[in-house]
Amino acid sequence: MLSDTVEVKVASHVNEHRLWDRLMQLAKIGATESGGVSRFALSEEESLARRLLIEWALELELEISTDDISNLYFRLNGRNKQTAPVMSGSHIDSQPNGGKFDGTFGVVAALEVLQAIRESGTQPARSIDVVVWLNEEGSRFSPGMMGSDVFVGRRSLDDCLTVKDSKGVSVAEALETTHSEFHSLPRRSFGGAVCHYVEAHIEQGPLLDTAKIPVGVVTGIQGSRRFRIRVIGEQAHAGTEPMENRKDALFTAVDVIQEIRSQLMNRFPDLKLTMGLFEMLPNAPSVVPSSVYFSIDIRHPKDSTLAESQRIIDEICHSNQNKCEIEVNQIAVSKSLEFPNRIRKRITRCAEILNIGSMPIYSMAGHDARQMHYHCPSGMIFVPCYKGISHSDKEACESSDLFMGTQVLAASLIDMANQQLK
Ligand SMILES: [Zn+2]
Repeated sequence: MLSDTVEVKVASHVNEHRLWDRLMQLAKIGATESGGVSRFALSEEESLARRLLIEWALELELEISTDDISNLYFRLNGRNKQTAPVMSGSHIDSQPNGGKFDGTFGVVAALEVLQAIRESGTQPARSIDVVVWLNEEGSRFSPGMMGSDVFVGRRSLDDCLTVKDSKGVSVAEALETTHSEFHSLPRRSFGGAVCHYVEAHIEQGPLLDTAKIPVGVVTGIQGSRRFRIRVIGEQAHAGTEPMENRKDALFTAVDVIQEIRSQLMNRFPDLKLTMGLFEMLPNAPSVVPSSVYFSIDIRHPKDSTLAESQRIIDEICHSNQNKCEIEVNQIAVSKSLEFPNRIRKRITRCAEILNIGSMPIYSMAGHDARQMHYHCPSGMIFVPCYKGISHSDKEACESSDLFMGTQVLAASLIDMANQQLK
């Protein structure tokens, strides 16, 4: 087939050495001593990473732009500039002591595809945009997925601007610095028609690594709900305050946490339950704790399971309110989703024509592709990471797997960008 020829040709220009080298260059920005990366949204490190990406985009003579929340875009113009572009990308922010490949791989892979297209001498019918989404991780400004959420209109810019980090710096303040640093970039508006979105990402789970298969064609993403719980007690002296009079926020919080854990795990053994954030005031050894603040993150492929888990969490928090007050705040809800079958088929076919092994795989982690799924037909390509370890400085990938995943991305993007213009 003629169209296969173009896909194979573009994929053959993907350069494994260049891909790996760029990932290692980016990994130096915000590098931790233990081999990981700490690079937070709108930080100095993130700005440096943006600069490096822009340098590479300039070498390729791509059209560079940004928007009001500082998503970054690199466009390779197609023959017909009037039609909706194909889009691909991911994020460059990380968790504290996170890995070198989470997010960054999807950005560098998409950029590599544009370079491969250039070097193959072909011009796609549609333009292709590489996008770097702001604050996917939410490790500095919570919750994450800010850039893609605002792009697709699921969250307002104003709502994001007031979010503060742990030092009290708001997104609005941090954005001012980033915007002024990149003031020469033209600003595009949010949204706009997108033909297809395909995101490449490391699996962050063990299935591909165990199966020794280099490419996962993602079928869907499991849903999640996130809460912040505040237990309000009363500060008192550790020696003089009688036990029966105390309003000990920590003891109440511990009871609540234990009950939530045991009830949810008994009812739904396959639910993912995480309480990753925990703060206590005043956090002094001789003082009865006055306040405890912690997070709950639940994830499951079935929305009904998440709804029932939420009901249980609410009930437990309510029934433990005797001496202390307990506030439950839901901060994010993401429904579980299935990517369109026709996108999955096209990615699978591209892997086949390149003779690269692939398998269908379900995503246990959230990604910007979840947001884009509500905007245009979207899909994802996973590559293996060592033992599925991620959000850790031990995150590791094989260069050959990243190469093959990028080849499949290249074939998929050129295929989609050449599809019949409407
Ligand atoms: Zn990621």
